[in-house]
Amino acid sequence: MLRKNCGKVVIMAKPIVAIVGRPNVGKSTLFNKLIGERRSIVEDTPGVTRDRIYAEAEWNEKKFILIDTGGIEPKSEDTILKQMRTQAEIAVETADVIVFMCDIRAGLLADDRDIAIMLKKSGKPIILAVNKADSIGSVPLEFYEFYELGFEREPIALSSLHGTGSGDLLDAILEECDFSECEADDEGVINVAVIGKPNAGKSSVINRMCGEQRLIVSDVAGTTRDAVDTLVKNEVGVFNFIDTAGIRRHSKVEDRIEKFSVLRANMAVERSDVCILMIDAQDGITEQDEKIAGIAHEAGKACIIAVNKWDAIEKDNSTTNAFKNKIRTSLAYMPYAPIIFLSAKTGQRVAHLYPMIREVFMQASRRITTGVLNDMLNDAMTRVQPPSDKGKRLKIYYMTQVSTNPPTFVIFCNSEELFHFSYRRYIENCLRDTFGFEGTPIRLVIRQKGDGSDT
Ligand code: GDP
Ligand code: GDP
Repeated sequence: MLRKNCGKVVIMAKPIVAIVGRPNVGKSTLFNKLIGERRSIVEDTPGVTRDRIYAEAEWNEKKFILIDTGGIEPKSEDTILKQMRTQAEIAVETADVIVFMCDIRAGLLADDRDIAIMLKKSGKPIILAVNKADSIGSVPLEFYEFYELGFEREPIALSSLHGTGSGDLLDAILEECDFSECEADDEGVINVAVIGKPNAGKSSVINRMCGEQRLIVSDVAGTTRDAVDTLVKNEVGVFNFIDTAGIRRHSKVEDRIEKFSVLRANMAVERSDVCILMIDAQDGITEQDEKIAGIAHEAGKACIIAVNKWDAIEKDNSTTNAFKNKIRTSLAYMPYAPIIFLSAKTGQRVAHLYPMIREVFMQASRRITTGVLNDMLNDAMTRVQPPSDKGKRLKIYYMTQVSTNPPTFVIFCNSEELFHFSYRRYIENCLRDTFGFEGTPIRLVIRQKGDGSDT
């Protein structure tokens, strides 16, 4: 186990809980209920859409990841049974605990029995949730027919609509999850997600990077799932490459459902401090690359763009710049990410990645004092006056950094409306010119003080 091998270095991993069941039983209703209003500060990025098929949930101060498998299924001509099989496969592959949902109003159907059989084969803990038991105080007789499915745990009656029974369900989920490794002290370890489309060379680069230095390839401690992280310790630092199993092995399910591989990338990104976006030099930058880059950007992660297979490209003295320009145009929302050209095959520049990872991580972790920030802000406003509209002028009072990873700043002003996108961009550029922040997104949160009449 990792803990024994590395002293205090332990991999953090939240348990994953998947909700599975026929269409319309109430999976997304429950999902939404359990994740509650989890609002985070997310900036708009044109062209990047993110489906909410998984989210973090919390109960009694324990956190886990909840997946709504219904949300994964593309609209297709598939029969319900086929869809269910896919859901079940995803749940079985990815989840530590499965919530199997049935509908008391519809009763126990043949499809429910089929899915129960598929799920039981997994050997994973299964909690049977009988939904739409809306009447308060009494459990209807129909509930008892679900005992027929023969799961180890007692079924739980609930109403996702009203929220009744969800406490019992959450208690059951916590009982089945293993949180033993989740209070890990992973200070000093930089978690790295290598992301990119299939065949970009992710496994090859990781193999090159880890090489002789590879310390441990181990199952994530305390979980039954097959996520494998690879830990490397060298003179630059300690690095944890996330979900290397998912990168090496092309699973049947992933091949069939693009959304699932995106989900997997999403989860790796979520656990990461730094993302390496792997691009195949032979293909150039593609739409899929743009989509994957968007995941890292939206999640606010520090990012490095690595163009792999550089050995396979015919080059003259303008090739590198032309490639860079294409990347900057396609990924216009992440001008902060450094670009490196490398080859897993020859090993060219692969070793440069370590100091780069460390540097972008440090940049993302920087904290600027309020005094220094406001000096910068005053300079910026002197150089370019805040905009005005219909006789009203934007006044910026002050700004302060509220968090790191990514660096997030709150700016207080008289009117949010007057704070146009272009001025926002200008302030972000000033922050970067003054402080660097290379490799990390920056978040600016505009807060209006007063009713906007102070203009
Ligand atoms: P999914 O396809 O399994 O994700 O199901 P949905 O969450 O979309 O729910 C399907 C329908 O069932 C919706 O009309 C919900 O409002 C309804 N529904 C969900 N939970 C309950 C419940 O506890 N009681 C009742 N009466 N209806 C529910
Ligand atoms: P992954 O799916 O992103 O993990 O990609 P792999 O690491 O499995 O690599 C996909 C293919 O690209 C394999 O056939 C590799 O041999 C090849 N490949 C990987 N890196 C390089 C490289 O730097 N140069 C060349 N010419 N081929 C590479």
